[in-house]
Amino acid sequence: MKRGLTNVYVKTDADFSTMIMESTMPLSHALRRSARNVYEFSLDGGLIMAPDTINIYDGLINTVKVAEQNGGTLVSVALQYPSSYRLKQIRGIPDRLEICFDRAYIKNVMRDKLVIIDSGHGGGDIGRRGYINLLEKNVVMHISGFMKSKIINTGARAVLTREKDISMGLKDRLEVAGLLEADLWISIHTRWDRVKNSCGAAALYHSKPGELLCRFILEELGKKLKLESKGVHEESFSKGFDAIGTTANIPFVTIEVCTISNPVEEGWLRSPVFKERTAQAITNGIVRYYDSNRHERDKNIFR
Ligand SMILES: [Zn+2]
Repeated sequence: MKRGLTNVYVKTDADFSTMIMESTMPLSHALRRSARNVYEFSLDGGLIMAPDTINIYDGLINTVKVAEQNGGTLVSVALQYPSSYRLKQIRGIPDRLEICFDRAYIKNVMRDKLVIIDSGHGGGDIGRRGYINLLEKNVVMHISGFMKSKIINTGARAVLTREKDISMGLKDRLEVAGLLEADLWISIHTRWDRVKNSCGAAALYHSKPGELLCRFILEELGKKLKLESKGVHEESFSKGFDAIGTTANIPFVTIEVCTISNPVEEGWLRSPVFKERTAQAITNGIVRYYDSNRHERDKNIFR
């Protein structure tokens, strides 16, 4: 049997992102850090899989690149944040080499945060309807549910404005943020356009701190799902809700995850895997937002 690498994949849970390298027999390896958050494995076996760059974007591991290198194999892992790791070699068929990255950095960033997740429609308010009759309310409730577990995985707390498929006015949903002294209010919607082939994601902010958050979230949706960005827009709620007035120092944002009126994107929105990935991308944007806040604060302290 040829000696070589047959498969590389990543498993993610709340505490660790683990990259698993499977091979036909034990490979010896050298590990080095080639840049701040990039780790490279040189393996002394060939490649029994196609060379590839795999997009992970699980919040910690961004990409994994597998390539041939002088008869051996080079596997590089690019991380979003610093992390400590441990290595594990498991003998068997296949043979496994695992590198387990600690997600403690994310937990530190998100500690004590409370995120309010608003499913933009529910009950009698069905939202928009897709070209092939998918209802916005069903999509956004599903994504909001995934988001709650992704946020909890970061170590923060998450509250849904509605747990069930019921009608609820915008004012009541906004007020939850003030009542619970939340750090963030995020409403999940799909985008709609009368032009059938218009596609992509958009983000609206209803209070100033939301602008940067919107930008990060659209970037993350682009990286993980290749969604086209329809840009960040300001939108104040017209009815003069004082619900926001008292808590305007926190971000209030609406994310239109992709375009339900586009038949292709409507098809994506039917897939649970796509919805879960969407929730992960949004969560990655939220973590980046609080991480950048932390750097701003540090800069001010040391100024
Ligand atoms: Zn909507």
